[in-house]
Amino acid sequence: MKSGVRARLHELVVERPLQVLVVAAVIGATAAAAAPLAGAPILKASLARGAAGPAASEPTITKLVWEGADLDGDGVADFANPTGHAPRGHDAYGDGEFGASRDGGARRHEGVDYAARAGQLVRAPISGFVTKIGFAYPGDTTLKFVEITNPALKVAARVFYVDPKVEEGAAVLMGRPIGVAHSLQRKYPAGMTDHVHLELIDRRGAHFDAERVLVAKVETVEMGD
Ligand SMILES: [Zn+2]
Repeated sequence: MKSGVRARLHELVVERPLQVLVVAAVIGATAAAAAPLAGAPILKASLARGAAGPAASEPTITKLVWEGADLDGDGVADFANPTGHAPRGHDAYGDGEFGASRDGGARRHEGVDYAARAGQLVRAPISGFVTKIGFAYPGDTTLKFVEITNPALKVAARVFYVDPKVEEGAAVLMGRPIGVAHSLQRKYPAGMTDHVHLELIDRRGAHFDAERVLVAKVETVEMGD
């Protein structure tokens, strides 16, 4: 399984972008239709009334769940959504997806912006060690990032706009809180969707698209009585 991680990442990021894009488009449309608040998780109770049968009247809950890719093939996901919300859509400052245009096309967005509520818990997108806590912008000590490195997967994650609750050198588990989301309204007034900016970096130092390894699925569960 040693070269498996590398092969799996290559497969996800390079070889299957089209397939994933189609899935992302479907999910995006679903999320947009069901979640008017940008990035809000879908948690909708509905009474499914079929033509006949008692089972058809069972109330169900539809929710958006995030499935992380399993890079090392151990049957467990290796990535988690840091906020639980969808990537921010278009707002006054642009788009939140990987590769989106920045500075009038002079550069590209190197991360994915997951919508957040200021003050909400932010969770570790990968397991690993906190290898750096830094400032997002020179001369601004309010907006910070947490860098987590996973030596086994040879992947690093940088989570921006977080007030950290962890320290450099700490071991963190994927999905566990690493801090809280900081409001972006002072830095980007009038129209920025609060979010966490997530950068994923491979063994060669290249940024890759978090949406390749974190895919939303609509899950319908029946409510027990
Ligand atoms: Zn961003």
